[in-house]
Amino acid sequence: MGIKESIGWTTRTWNPVTGCWGPEGSPERPNRCFYCYAHRMANRLRGRYGYPPDDPFIPTFHPQRLALPSQWKKPTRIFVCSMGDLFGDWVPPNWILSVLSIVRKCPQHTFLFLTKNPITYHHFHFPQNCWLGATADSFEASYWNATALADLPNITFLSYEPLLDLVYTNYNALWWINWVIVGAMTGPGAGQHAPEKNWIRNILHQATKFNLPIFMKHNLRPYWEGEFVQQWPA
Ligand code: SF4
Repeated sequence: MGIKESIGWTTRTWNPVTGCWGPEGSPERPNRCFYCYAHRMANRLRGRYGYPPDDPFIPTFHPQRLALPSQWKKPTRIFVCSMGDLFGDWVPPNWILSVLSIVRKCPQHTFLFLTKNPITYHHFHFPQNCWLGATADSFEASYWNATALADLPNITFLSYEPLLDLVYTNYNALWWINWVIVGAMTGPGAGQHAPEKNWIRNILHQATKFNLPIFMKHNLRPYWEGEFVQQWPA
């Protein structure tokens, strides 16, 4: 789909690939995708909008959606594949190449990619109008996924969302990161996994120390009374 939605740090979403075979996890380890929003939405849309009726979250390529960004004339920040993970090792490379061929034809837009598998970025060439993000929702992910963004020539960012832990301050990696996003869990797990103030403070401290623009999502407001910053990379 190419719907407008209130992600906050992006204007549109574009989902030429949906679905994911990310790990299931448990309520105790929700960073392993247990509360996946995309999975819940796909179940709700089962049998409609291209979501298969029998298994709506199975990785699915939607070639009919490829043309959408070319139809959006106004320069736009587009979040690519909000309804899955385009860089899981189960995704056929030709799906990713098809997406990138459209990105190249649309230099007026900025395409934001976000994955839990950022090492896959290194297997492809991304034009400069791509920003490459990695989810860093836990201590482990904040170390490994930040490290995986090294040496990429694009704007790179870390998404601390949902913030589930005191994240690791990866002093080496933060030198090559260009932006950070921080947000809280929403939906069924929200009450059980509220972010602590010192976790948020730690990320603000990191951003200040490394002179990084930071985007604090509105869903943090119930947990944070301090300064609220919403910045993008220059
Ligand atoms: S889309 Fe993201 S959160 Fe959902 S199952 Fe896949 S990797 Fe996990």
